[in-house]
Amino acid sequence: MSKSYLAEHVKGLQPSGIRKFFDLASKMDNVISLGVGEPDFVTPWNVIEASYHSLEQGYTAYTANAGLLELREEISKYLEETFSVSYNPEDQILVTVGASQAIDVALRTIVNRGDEVIVVEPCFVSYGPAIELAGGVPVSVSATAENEFKVTPQQIESAITPKTKAIVICSPNNPTGAVLSKEELTAIATVVEKHDLVVLSDEIYAELAYDGPATSFASIEGMKEHTIVLSGFSKSFAMTGWRLGFATGPTEIMQAMTKIHQYTIMCAPTMAQHGALEALRNGNDSVREMKTSYQQRRNFVVKALNEMGLSCHLPGGAFYVFPSIKATGYSSEEFAQKLLEEERVAVVPGHVFGESGEGYIRCSYATSIKQLDEAMKRISRFVKQNSKV
Ligand code: PMP
Repeated sequence: MSKSYLAEHVKGLQPSGIRKFFDLASKMDNVISLGVGEPDFVTPWNVIEASYHSLEQGYTAYTANAGLLELREEISKYLEETFSVSYNPEDQILVTVGASQAIDVALRTIVNRGDEVIVVEPCFVSYGPAIELAGGVPVSVSATAENEFKVTPQQIESAITPKTKAIVICSPNNPTGAVLSKEELTAIATVVEKHDLVVLSDEIYAELAYDGPATSFASIEGMKEHTIVLSGFSKSFAMTGWRLGFATGPTEIMQAMTKIHQYTIMCAPTMAQHGALEALRNGNDSVREMKTSYQQRRNFVVKALNEMGLSCHLPGGAFYVFPSIKATGYSSEEFAQKLLEEERVAVVPGHVFGESGEGYIRCSYATSIKQLDEAMKRISRFVKQNSKV
């Protein structure tokens, strides 16, 4: 075997299990994809126009490392109005290249080699690898269907060791759609306080909570000093390709994050920042319209899945459902593979989101009702033909 130039810490890194199904599906005809986690809407026109306009006006240079001050001010206003948390735009907000970069930089800022970081599974596929790349050790806690995929403070507490530094929480959740209430977050806060942990609160789906506004972990009493909020424009404003996110937190942490960002990224794309500014200033109506549409689709899909025997709780947010496929007798990988081959519907097997995701599949309902209707017919036919019980 020829010599490998790879660094030790990347040798074991696995490709994302979502990508595999995405790649397989892209080579087939007539596939309905419920696999990808992104809105089917095009970015609102006023946002696109604002970005064009910024280019026409010659705003083509770098911005401040932390992002346009105007944008940070707007983010600060938005967080205050929406979640009642106040952050100083000068030194507590960093504009990033998507929430993805915010996650990466936050971890690299707080994790010492060997520190343990608790992740609540099933969860977004990036957390584990990002923790490892930062030198940390991911420690999983399993949220279960019995509790509608909501983690309990007791579960978190039982995973804490002297090496625990932080916990990653995501509400509304990818892949389960679970939303933690203010009371549930407050109960978790007690554990955070007791063990003096840092919370990385991934709030990228906060706008997409259907039963009342989502609560920011930073707004829980005493938690602002413990919390780094990670968020962005990809989901709520249908801006995945713009690659724009942000992080907020205590000054010391945010200043350190800004240093890493300065040396590795310089600044988030300028034209995207101008678009984001418009999104925050005048994007409310578009968000509301998209949210109403997602909610209708959620209701449609949850009903259809339960009727065909794939039991599925009603998720409170994001745009995913996470039905059980246990009744079919297949593993989630087998189910997803066969469904794609036989019925041309792409879904993601639950195990890619962590061990407790086994027995479930993730379906994104961010696609048209017409497509969803056809997908549900195909899945129903597949379940009837394949059920082993
Ligand atoms: N967090 C979660 C929970 C996500 O689902 C995603 C995208 N799938 C991200 C972060 C990353 O989003 P962005 O496009 O802002 O990098």
